[in-house]
Amino acid sequence: MSAELDTVKKALAAANLADVEIMERQGAVVLEGRVKNWQQYIEAGYAASGLGFRGVVNDLEVEELESSKQQGISSPDDLSIEKYSFDAVVIGGGVIGCAVARELTRYNIKVALLDKESDLARHTSGRNNGMIHPAMAVKRGTKKHQYNLRGNRMFRKVANELGFELKWPGSFAMLDKNWQLLLGPYARGIASKKGVQGFQVLSKWKVKELEPNAWEEQKGSFYMPETGVVDPYKVTVAYAENAMQNGATIFLNTKVLGFEKENNRITAIRTNRGTLPAGIVINAAGIWADKVAEMAGDRFYTIHPRKGVIAILDKKTGSTQNYILGRAQLSSEAKTKGGGLVPLLDGNILAGPTADEVPGREDYSTEPHELQHILEHHLVLNRALQKSDIITYFAGTRACTFEEDFIIETSEYVENLVHVAGIQSPGLASAPAIAVDVGDMAAKILKEKMDLKENQDFNPQRKLTPQPDRLSLDERNQLINNWPAYGQIVCRCELVSEGEIADAIHAPLAARTLDAVKRRARAGMGRCQGGFCTPAVINILARETGRQVTEICKHEPGSELILGKTRVKGCEQSAN
Ligand SMILES: Cc1cc2nc3c(=O)[nH]c(=O)nc-3n(C[C@H](O)[C@H](O)[C@H](O)COP(=O)(O)OP(=O)(O)OC[C@H]3O[C@@H](n4cnc5c(N)ncnc54)[C@H](O)[C@@H]3O)c2cc1C
Repeated sequence: MSAELDTVKKALAAANLADVEIMERQGAVVLEGRVKNWQQYIEAGYAASGLGFRGVVNDLEVEELESSKQQGISSPDDLSIEKYSFDAVVIGGGVIGCAVARELTRYNIKVALLDKESDLARHTSGRNNGMIHPAMAVKRGTKKHQYNLRGNRMFRKVANELGFELKWPGSFAMLDKNWQLLLGPYARGIASKKGVQGFQVLSKWKVKELEPNAWEEQKGSFYMPETGVVDPYKVTVAYAENAMQNGATIFLNTKVLGFEKENNRITAIRTNRGTLPAGIVINAAGIWADKVAEMAGDRFYTIHPRKGVIAILDKKTGSTQNYILGRAQLSSEAKTKGGGLVPLLDGNILAGPTADEVPGREDYSTEPHELQHILEHHLVLNRALQKSDIITYFAGTRACTFEEDFIIETSEYVENLVHVAGIQSPGLASAPAIAVDVGDMAAKILKEKMDLKENQDFNPQRKLTPQPDRLSLDERNQLINNWPAYGQIVCRCELVSEGEIADAIHAPLAARTLDAVKRRARAGMGRCQGGFCTPAVINILARETGRQVTEICKHEPGSELILGKTRVKGCEQSAN
């Protein structure tokens, strides 16, 4: 046994996990055998990490889970994609995959993006806090820090190009003990080393002045003005639409099942819709990235999901808070940035997230203890908030590796594969910078096989449909005169018009489901959560796409809301 394996063995024994079998494969340490529960699985992974290997592959079987093995959701679509072939194929339609796809369209190559779901950002990219972190809470020297910092500084330009909204409320990391204020100069020094601009230490009186409803117990705060907020779903769609406008093809309902390889090269991708030849493959499959890496023959990491639950608060709460509010994280060992209260672009506030290790990669359940944590830990940070302000909850899973860092590199064993994995928080904030580097990595590989040139027609500016809520009253009236559908309000909570819903349905990446309309146009996002507008949106979707109302689903086939008529004609007449 090598000295490194021996160290892992000792670390596992110290964690009371001496029965775990270990071996080395392709530079990674592989854990095998059985453990009792998920907590032991997680402990074994961390015990083996950081001990000189390329990564930890955790193949331990977990006794308590044997009866409920997890599987990815997919909605098979029998339309074959076999007639196509692409120079570059991105796997994963989250913010990372879409940003990378757009970056690749800067070259004269054929680009495709595949996602197993019926819409983009159905997973982590549509289930997060939307914060553009300032790179304070990430460890210096990690890829997370490097990409977070660069990504943060790129967001203004990207938002201008792609036409999505972005604001910079700044964030408070509040302190709850007087002595913590003594750490101010030290924290300022750390901020400066990390490149965080504008960092300030504020007294409790200053915090009160700037944020009158701030947490009763705060004793002062660290303030980071370079903290932004976006709608993560809209950012993902904006990247994808601009990629499409520059020639990329997006295949939804397309699940990658395996690869065809010759020597150390992927020649084609096997999917539920046929086999697709590919010159280069980018693995941006989020919480499933290790499974995709395994299919390609280069798995040196394990993704273990860390669930975060977030509560959405009523729009009326928006006026009670100016800044993003959180608690200072003084431990460098913390595995999350702690969460807090995030005032969103549309007036709502997000509270959370929680952080729990869970076995289910797509476990989006919300449990009473998670909700309790949000109330006790997050909601209290703004004294004007109450439990009754919460309108709904959602959950997302962070794609964590045991090394707790991003994996952004060309494969050592498969010559045309790039890993973009372990992209947990701050992955959204890092996306623009990650995309640029992955684009460069892909270009380097492609250049070896083809004459790679710049795409002379590349246009970074996304074409936008009218955005009524960003117009003056006069401009809005003009818009309604031109097309009265913009004056027909369908969602009363969010004031969304029929015109905006129709625009979402006819966008380059067409919205075909209720959830897709909701996320693009906000119809159904408000206090009543679609109670009022859902039937109207179903009718518009059916009319605009030439389908029956019974064919319109919430997110994928099987989630239809209208199943058939409940009254026969005669009854209707007598009722009249
Ligand atoms: C609760 C929570 C809060 C967060 N808050 C923030 C924040 O405020 N700021 C921030 O910067 N980051 C935040 N993050 C992290 C951020 O959301 C992620 O880093 C980012 O969304 C990751 O994007 P992605 O594209 O890598 O993954 P995903 O969005 O998960 O995309 C991966 C895609 O791959 C597809 N896929 C998987 N397997 C296959 C297959 N076999 N075939 C085809 N398609 C496949 C999936 O369907 C999915 O659409 C948060 C995360 C969570 C969970």
